[in-house]
Amino acid sequence: MFQKIRELLAGGQDFLVTTHVDPDGDAVGSAFALALALEQLGKGVTVYTKDTVPYRYRFLPEPQGLVHEIPSRRFDAVFAVDCGDFSRVGKDHEKLKDMGLIVNIDHHDTNEAFGFLNIVDQRASSTAEIIYLILKALEVKIDVNIAMNIYTAILTDTGSFRYDNTNSRAFVICEEMVQAGVVPSRVAAEVYESHPRERFDLLCQALATMETHYGNSLAIIVITQEMFSQTGGSREQSEGFVELLKEMRGLEVAVLVRQIEGTRYKISMRSKGAVDVASIANRFGGGGHKKAAGCVIEGGIDEVKKKIVEAAAL
Ligand code: 5GP
Ligand code: MN
Repeated sequence: MFQKIRELLAGGQDFLVTTHVDPDGDAVGSAFALALALEQLGKGVTVYTKDTVPYRYRFLPEPQGLVHEIPSRRFDAVFAVDCGDFSRVGKDHEKLKDMGLIVNIDHHDTNEAFGFLNIVDQRASSTAEIIYLILKALEVKIDVNIAMNIYTAILTDTGSFRYDNTNSRAFVICEEMVQAGVVPSRVAAEVYESHPRERFDLLCQALATMETHYGNSLAIIVITQEMFSQTGGSREQSEGFVELLKEMRGLEVAVLVRQIEGTRYKISMRSKGAVDVASIANRFGGGGHKKAAGCVIEGGIDEVKKKIVEAAAL
């Protein structure tokens, strides 16, 4: 297993690791764990993320070469982790395409196998689970820095071991990460209890927009640019809002609509299981998992909301 990746690494010296925009815990943790491992193997490694690391993941041990500008040189390979399609890397992804052989490491249902090498396992709890298996195959020593990244990625992508991507391997790997020195309560405090006050002002405004449809099967909330500026809240502070709606009894689909600018809206959807939100997102050019997916829709806010509500057709 992983013979091709072993050959690719043996034959190269200089690698790029990248992940998706609005990076979540799995994106940051997977990219950092892989980069730290490549450093340990004596390889040159640059990590490019279009967006900076969200505040709740800043405690994660970072690799040395983290940049937010696309480097202008060639690499022996470009690792894209946790990206269902290559455009998720960000608006200048085309430039990266020609910078080296693309290695696609991912677990999204809608993954487009865009790489020269595709290591995609939809049954994996997280991309970090696949990274862990690769590091084992490469005989990397999982030190506490790598372990913090892998643990946090699995913790967050499984919704603290609540979602149905929570498999037995997720627990086995996390147990090993704790053995390697991870303190679960410390990670939880950083990830779940480090929000600035502004997040709560933003949450109040967002919840005030809540509408339900099809009985209470679908709930939808909106955050406009005006709400962001009025509260001083940021996009990354609104991570987790859509999951809150799932706490409603009888709810099947939760939707968060965030205004990017003007008539461009980012849609985040969560399902409790009966509805495949990845296929809804796919219809609008997005993707994700059956229970967590997203897309971008253009239009007036009422029109955008109507499109999503109708597409869900509960
Ligand atoms: P979120 O709602 O947290 O932004 O994303 C939920 C899931 O859907 C994540 O797994 C994310 O990678 C995926 N996703 C979100 N937006 C998009 C999109 O525009 N395109 C694709 N392909 N996947 C997306
Ligand atoms: Mn993931």
